[in-house]
Amino acid sequence: MTIKERMAELIAIIEKANEDYHTKDTPTISDAAYDQFMAELVSLESKYPEYKVEFSPTSRIGGIVLEGFNKVTHQVPMMSLANVFSESELRSFDERIAKITDGYTYVTELKIDGLAVSLLYEEGVFIRAATRGNGSVGEDVTSNVKTIKSLPLRLHEPITIEVRGEIYMPHKSFNQLNEERLSQNEPLFANPRNAAAGTIRQLDSSIVASRNLDLFIYTIVNAKKYVSSQIEALQYLKKLGFKVNPHHHHVKTIDALVDQIKSDDELRHTLSYDTDGVVIKVNEFHLYDKIGYTAKSPKWATAYKFQAEQVETLLKGITFQIGRTGVVTPVAELEPVLVSGSTVARATLHNEDYIKMKDIRIGDTVIVHKAGEIIPEVLSVVTSKRNGQVPFEMIHACPVCASPLKRHPGEADHYCTNPDCPGKNINSLIHFASRVAMDIDTLGERVVEILQYLWYLN
Ligand SMILES: [Zn+2]
Repeated sequence: MTIKERMAELIAIIEKANEDYHTKDTPTISDAAYDQFMAELVSLESKYPEYKVEFSPTSRIGGIVLEGFNKVTHQVPMMSLANVFSESELRSFDERIAKITDGYTYVTELKIDGLAVSLLYEEGVFIRAATRGNGSVGEDVTSNVKTIKSLPLRLHEPITIEVRGEIYMPHKSFNQLNEERLSQNEPLFANPRNAAAGTIRQLDSSIVASRNLDLFIYTIVNAKKYVSSQIEALQYLKKLGFKVNPHHHHVKTIDALVDQIKSDDELRHTLSYDTDGVVIKVNEFHLYDKIGYTAKSPKWATAYKFQAEQVETLLKGITFQIGRTGVVTPVAELEPVLVSGSTVARATLHNEDYIKMKDIRIGDTVIVHKAGEIIPEVLSVVTSKRNGQVPFEMIHACPVCASPLKRHPGEADHYCTNPDCPGKNINSLIHFASRVAMDIDTLGERVVEILQYLWYLN
């Protein structure tokens, strides 16, 4: 066997082991054996760099440090899906399709709570990964995505294809990462989605490699060239070597669809990664043009969003936060709890009227949920667990500058009357930064994430 042949053999062994372990979840060789093959390949590549190939698994180790990310224009835009939030909205979605055509069925897939990515393969070799960005232009994150172990660097067929999927951080990786950050006194990530988004934008791919991201692939760009339905697309993706989420179903009727979503809503609590809904697509590609598109999204698909989870916890105190207009918002200080996959320690109480209407008192056991899955909110009090808590009293002085607060007639909010209140100015700055950034979609997304993150940390 020549050196070149041995290197090809090592790549085949390592990539099969990778696929068995990370994609099929059925390890076939020991970690020690894997490390030994990898070490042999690394050593041969350094001795014979002329034989090193693009798809070598040694590129998964990371080590590439970028100065920034290049822009990538998506040849086919990455569209977003319209959302439905209830069974009746789902039935309306179906009725709209039924008016246009018959002979359709649906495919349901779990909606993974991560970030979308588009992957390009040429003649079976992985060459580029791009983030969604604003849908038309994303960022080149190839060297980072290469470190994801379930990503095939070479497909089982030498085809040129673009596929799309979701990068996510499994709970195990997320907890590990936050434990490390805690021990090093670094700020914690608010939830796995933010951690995945922050990780994929690291300039040093070794850091990305250390954080154990994962990836599910769910669609083929210009899929009609390869297959004729979504269920076939998923099967074909698996055959090519991609990791496809196993919880997808082919359903024939709207009633079966409703049942499937109920069952997925139960299932999601048992999974080792976050999901935020179910993606529903008409299965038959030949109906797509007939059913059509809106300016923003296809009419043959929708995302059913799961209800925000509701969790009980202790209301330890009520503090006050001042906004850029001087509005003073009461904030619930909570015994930290896990809500929809992230730890919540603070939640909005909106204003004095909201607290009085719900009769929320310090020391109460309260029910917390995430409004629109983003900002936590105190929903109600578990009055059966109340013993001796006293009714809430609104403060009368600004928590920052101690100037008197004013409530305008007909309004629920209290305002700080000091025009130079330092509390206002700090928040004005944050608001200004976000407004400017909002004009650029990708940056806007980032700012929202940062603000969201600050909210959790504070
Ligand atoms: Zn003030």
